[in-house]
Amino acid sequence: MDIDMTFNIRFLRTETNKGTEAIVIEKFIYVFKRVNKYKSEYWRCQNKNCKASVTTFDELGSLNNVENAHD
Ligand SMILES: [Zn+2]
Repeated sequence: MDIDMTFNIRFLRTETNKGTEAIVIEKFIYVFKRVNKYKSEYWRCQNKNCKASVTTFDELGSLNNVENAHD
């Protein structure tokens, strides 16, 4: 985990229709990918062509620097 990250975004937990853990931030759904070092978790946009991602720690998230390139 990058120690410069600021975790300040609240999110809702959900799951995909395949039963994979996912989170919702604003209107975007991010699908669970992996647990990082130090127990942060990495989530990728549900849209496979989109590079937006989120790192979460406990119950707060930090958006990685790529905007969602879709509605
Ligand atoms: Zn996206």
